[in-house]
Amino acid sequence: MPRHISDERKTAYYVGMGLQILGALLFASTFVTFLIHFGDFTDFEARARSDGFRAFGGMSLLIIGSIVRGIGARGLAGSGVLLDPEKARDELEPYSRMAGGMAKDALEEANINLGGEPTKVIMVKCRSCGRLNQESAKFCQECGAKL
Ligand SMILES: [Zn+2]
Repeated sequence: MPRHISDERKTAYYVGMGLQILGALLFASTFVTFLIHFGDFTDFEARARSDGFRAFGGMSLLIIGSIVRGIGARGLAGSGVLLDPEKARDELEPYSRMAGGMAKDALEEANINLGGEPTKVIMVKCRSCGRLNQESAKFCQECGAKL
């Protein structure tokens, strides 16, 4: 079982991110040319065609980039490109482990003990009423007698 994300997947992830950035820039550039040539109607048709092409190309790159990035992050089976639940489990393993680790951290934060050594709590019995009190208590919680 792979413990870490393979280099191929990391490469795909960053290539996808690069495509997304490129797509966003290309898409944004249509607005820049629009602003630069605002009110200028010479070569309007040619520019409109170029803008349309860049807007479409930019959108396509954004979409392709996000798909490639998703595959890189979760693997082919993990992202649902291949129907192979067993493989998907392997490919998503780093994420499952991370989620498990985070859940464990949260439990530790909340002071919840999962298995292992149970936290021992020593109780002290009150001599006058018999109620069990925390070892650190100086007086009984029930009757107030000195412990
Ligand atoms: Zn008592």
